[in-house]
Formats: sequence, C-alpha cells, structure tokens
Amino acid sequence: MKTLTIDTDRLLRDLDTLATFTEPGTTGWTRRAFSPAFIAARAWLAKRMQDAGLSVSVDAAGNLIGRRPGLVDMPSLMIGSHTDTVPGAGRFDGMLGVLAGIAVARALDQAGVQLHYPLEIVDFLAEEPTPFGLSCIGSMGMAGVLDERELARQDSSGRTLAEALQAVGGRPDDLGSAIRKRGDIAAYLELHIEQGRVLEEQGAPLGVVQGIVGIRRAMLQFAGRPDHAGTTPMGLRHDALAAAAEVILAAERMAYAAGAAVATVGRLAISPNQENVVPGSVEMSLEVRSLNWGTVERVWAGIESEARTACSSRGVELIAGDLHDVAPMHTPDWLLEIIARACGEVATDPPLLPSGAGHDASWIGRIAPAGMIFVRSKDGRSHCPEEYSAPEDIALGANALGAALLALDHYLDLTLDLYLDR
Ligand SMILES: [Zn+2]
Repeated sequence: MKTLTIDTDRLLRDLDTLATFTEPGTTGWTRRAFSPAFIAARAWLAKRMQDAGLSVSVDAAGNLIGRRPGLVDMPSLMIGSHTDTVPGAGRFDGMLGVLAGIAVARALDQAGVQLHYPLEIVDFLAEEPTPFGLSCIGSMGMAGVLDERELARQDSSGRTLAEALQAVGGRPDDLGSAIRKRGDIAAYLELHIEQGRVLEEQGAPLGVVQGIVGIRRAMLQFAGRPDHAGTTPMGLRHDALAAAAEVILAAERMAYAAGAAVATVGRLAISPNQENVVPGSVEMSLEVRSLNWGTVERVWAGIESEARTACSSRGVELIAGDLHDVAPMHTPDWLLEIIARACGEVATDPPLLPSGAGHDASWIGRIAPAGMIFVRSKDGRSHCPEEYSAPEDIALGANALGAALLALDHYLDLTLDLYLDR
C-alpha cells in the first residue's frame, strides 16, 4: 500500500496563519462562528483548499467543503472538524482537524495519488456554542437533525439563525440539500486535540478514540422549608441544601465506583440564599456521562435512589425534571482497528480512550462510520489561551490521519460490496 508524506512545517504555518483571524480586543484567540473574523478566516481557508487541488463549495447548512474526485462516483471519505472558537480560546481546538485534512489532501495532490473514493475536507459550521443557544449547527445540518424550529431561534439582537446562516453562504430554504443519508459517507475521520490529561498522564502523543460518551442531564428540585436559622432546632428542620449536599456526594461516589463514568453537579441555585435562613429550596443540575449507556443508567438510578432516601429522612420533597439524553457514539470495531493501526505506524502503542466532550463526529457518527484521533494536550488545557499541543505531536497526528485515510481507501475498496449491503 502507498504511504503519504505530510508537509508538517506547512501545516504548522497554516495553524499560525489561521490563528491571526481573531476578533480584536479579546484575550487569547476568538473566532466565533458568524463573526467578521470567522468569515475572513473562511475566505482564507477556501483559498488553502483550492491550492490543495480541492473544489470548494458551501453547503446549505453553511459547511465549507473541499472535494477531490475519486476513481468512480462512490460514497465519499470525509475528514472534518471546525474553525470557530469559544471566546478567549486557543489555537488548536477544531482548527487542527480541518488544516490537517487540507494537509493530507495537499500530500495526495503532490504525490499524484488517485484514491478510489472521493475525498471531502469539511469545516463544519459553528461547533462551539452560539448566541442562538445551539452548537454543532453544521454537522447537525448534515445529519438531518436541524429543522425550522431551530432556524427560527434568535440571538439577543433578534437576528434569526436562518439569517446568520445566509450570511455565511448557507441556504436555510434549501436545508434538505445538505443532508447526507446513511451510505453517502463511506467513513468519517476527525483529528482533534484531546482537551484533557489522559494522554499526557500516559506519556502518549496520540490516542485512538473509541467513541463519544453519552450524556444524561436533568434539573433536580429540592423543596424543603425556609425557617429562622436561630430559632429552628436541628431536629425540626427541612433543609433543602443539606439534602442536595448528600446527593452531590452520592453522585461523586457512584461515578467513582462505576469506573468509566463521570458525574457532575455544575449548577446550584439556593433560595432564599440568606445567611440567617435555613435553605428552603434548591435547584441543581445533574449530569452523568459514559461511553456505556448501561453505566449511565445504572449510575443515574443509584444517585436517584440515594436522593429519595436523603429527602425522605429530611422531609424534603424531590422533584426531578425531564431527562435530556444524548446517546453515545461508538466507532465501529473495523474502523477502530484501521485507525489504531495507522496511529501505531507513527507512535508506539497508542492508547484507546473515550471522548468525554462532544464533537462534530458525534453527529456524523449517526449517519456514517466515524472515528477520531486525539493529539496530546499540554496540562489538558483547552478553551483558553494556554491550550497547546507540541509541533512533534501535531506532526504525528497528521501523519496518522493520512495513513488512516489511505488504509480506509484500500480496505473499503476491498469490502465495498459488503459495506453497501449493510
Ligand atoms: Zn473542537
């Protein structure tokens, strides 16, 4: 099988150049979707795609796509990520995946490699949270889960998402044309920084992502009784905060015990929140994440049962809000194997790990086999100016991405009939 040589110096220069498109007067690097900096960066990016021999278009959901034809018109191999950032961000989250994709396309072009499959490099629109209260707008659009209701959402100035979409070249009236059905994408790859500390702890530059964790979230309300903090003896209290505190610790304990799960109470509102009043009511968020959905449900049920006990012993009423579930995305075993082998060609024993954060791959994984490669993050920092991945690690990641793409083109060609039958 062929091998590819990625020009990693050029990739690093591209990362530096893309970072110069930042909103003035902000700390770190800021390129929020729909902003002038974002639109200017995309014009530059489109030029980079053209230079790499890709034909460039923007689909109806506002995704910037560079396409390279295959030998025949088959489902495409896709590499993608995003170039928008949170405010005060770093220079790697998302950008790495898009620019490494372009670097792979450039290497194919320069080596004159003809893939069996068409290749698409995608800059997905607005992966990070937007003023419309929605993230992953582009990948949701491609997965066919963006609808009229979402397009009507407004930012604080009253501008609708449909209008914002139009301003970046999207076509809200024709959203259906952006939808890819199962079978349209042969496989999807995303190279991304880890944004955590697992790889650093293990001394590994690269990681093979098993999938993206599922999330269960709900608001819990604890209704006790606000009483005078001086005149109400301990035995006569209905302290909502004390009950909530038991639940917070139970969540921590249960997630620990489950192993591959995390549980977090990130928001807490206490009422009346006065120093001389026994807390009468508490509203708090609870979320549990794991790659294994059974684990999410088990941990959740355990916390709930402890919550009922804590509340009934204190005479506090527990009102659980609606559950918001996001199913996990699992990379299929055959794709995981191809990615692990490609990473193994450039780094020794790359570990397997789940992604605890959401990515465009979560949405594309619902319509196509999707896999990710993580690059080590310094101190696990991300969404801040300190975000950093070493040039050597980035080079390994880009080469692994190129190797995985070639292997996929080869493997899928051999199993095409099998694949299309599924
Ligand atoms: Zn990202």
